[in-house]
Amino acid sequence: MGTFGEMLCVCCGVARAGRGTCCHGCRLELVPGGELWLAGGLIVHAAFRHDGSARRLVHRLKYEAFPAAALPLAAAMAPGACHGSVLVPVPRVIARHWKHGIDPARELAAAVSRLTGIPVLGALVPGWWHAARAGPGGKHRGEPRFRAIRAVPGRWVLIDDVLTTGTTLRAASQALEGTGRAVVATVAQAGPGRRR
Ligand SMILES: [Zn+2]
Repeated sequence: MGTFGEMLCVCCGVARAGRGTCCHGCRLELVPGGELWLAGGLIVHAAFRHDGSARRLVHRLKYEAFPAAALPLAAAMAPGACHGSVLVPVPRVIARHWKHGIDPARELAAAVSRLTGIPVLGALVPGWWHAARAGPGGKHRGEPRFRAIRAVPGRWVLIDDVLTTGTTLRAASQALEGTGRAVVATVAQAGPGRRR
């Protein structure tokens, strides 16, 4: 028997029995997210649908700064990450990182790296949210922007927490040279793109 803390479900927080980091009830709620194709050609492997316990795990990681919640997510992300040479986390916008004290994609990438042996490369830095009014030739309000600060050797795998519209992943992929794919913890019900 481990310490009391080790025997709590990282998702719902109740005492659990047996192996793994989630209790049986939380594991039953996990629905695979599948593979999606974003407009522009980026292929995304989503560990789970953004619902039930998967949604709770992301919430605990992202808003409660609870890194252990990354472990069950990373275990289901790992198979999708094995097509690249480096994991590139999609950095949280600077202002939000300060507010919540955690960068969820970096936690997920570190956990996937421990499982797969694929190294993490912090190749992207975030911009501030682009708040300029959309105008002729202008960007849309709230469009995320990234800048590459390191060259990626070989194929990359972008790592992010939640896939909603796909705008963030597209912006991140466009900032990188070369080719790759993306792996996310969850995909929203009305997610983008086409199921493969
Ligand atoms: Zn649970």
